[in-house]
Amino acid sequence: MSMLNVPKSVLKLLLSRQLKWIEGKINLLNTSNFITPVEFFEYYTKFIKERGNKKDVDEYYLSGWVAGYVITKNLMQTYKLKTPQDRYITAMNFLEVGGYGNYKTIEFRPGVRSHFFYLTNPLPLKFFPSKEPVCDFIRGISAGGGTWVHKKIVNSIELKCAAVNGKYCEFINFCFDDKKTIKGYNKLITNQFYKYRDILEFERNHIKKKKEKEISVS
Ligand SMILES: [Zn+2]
Repeated sequence: MSMLNVPKSVLKLLLSRQLKWIEGKINLLNTSNFITPVEFFEYYTKFIKERGNKKDVDEYYLSGWVAGYVITKNLMQTYKLKTPQDRYITAMNFLEVGGYGNYKTIEFRPGVRSHFFYLTNPLPLKFFPSKEPVCDFIRGISAGGGTWVHKKIVNSIELKCAAVNGKYCEFINFCFDDKKTIKGYNKLITNQFYKYRDILEFERNHIKKKKEKEISVS
C-alpha cells in the first residue's frame, strides 16, 4: 500500500477487521475504546470554559493529544504507512470515519505543517453561536495524530471555529520547529496555550517514556 493512501471506504473495511468486541471491551487497533456521545465532550468543554482556568484548557488539550497519539501510532503501524502523504490522508480519513466531520486540506508540508478545514464537526456546532473557538480537545487529538504523520512533535492552533461561524473550523498543525507558524501566529499560540513550553515538555517526556525512536523531539 505504499504510495497509496487508504481511501475512506477501504479504511472502513480494514478497520472492521481491527475492530473487535471482546468480553465487554471494544478493541480498535489494539486500543480500548468507549463509544461516547458528543454530549460528554460538550459537557466537559463547557465545564472548562466556565471555570475559566487556562491551565485546565492545556490539560484538556493534552488529554486529546495523548489519545490521538496512541490511536494514530497503531493506525500507522498496522498499515505500514511509509510516506508522510500516506500517513496524513489515512489519519485524516480515520478522523472522518471516527465522526469528526469532513476535512479539506489547504496546505500539507511534510515535517513542517498541515493546514486544513473541518466541516460539519458536531462538537463545535453545539456551541454555535459562540464568541470564541471551543475545539481544544479536537486540536489536541489532531496534534497527537499529526505527531505520527510528521514524525516530529506537533501541536495545533485553531484559526476559525464552527462554534463562531456556524460552518467550519480551520486548524494549523505545526511541528515544534516550524518557525514560520510559530512566528506568524505567535499571538494565537499564546492565546490558545497557557504554557506552550510545558506542553512541549509533557510531549517530549511522553515520547521518551514510550521509548519512541521514530519521533523527533528536538
Ligand atoms: Zn472549532
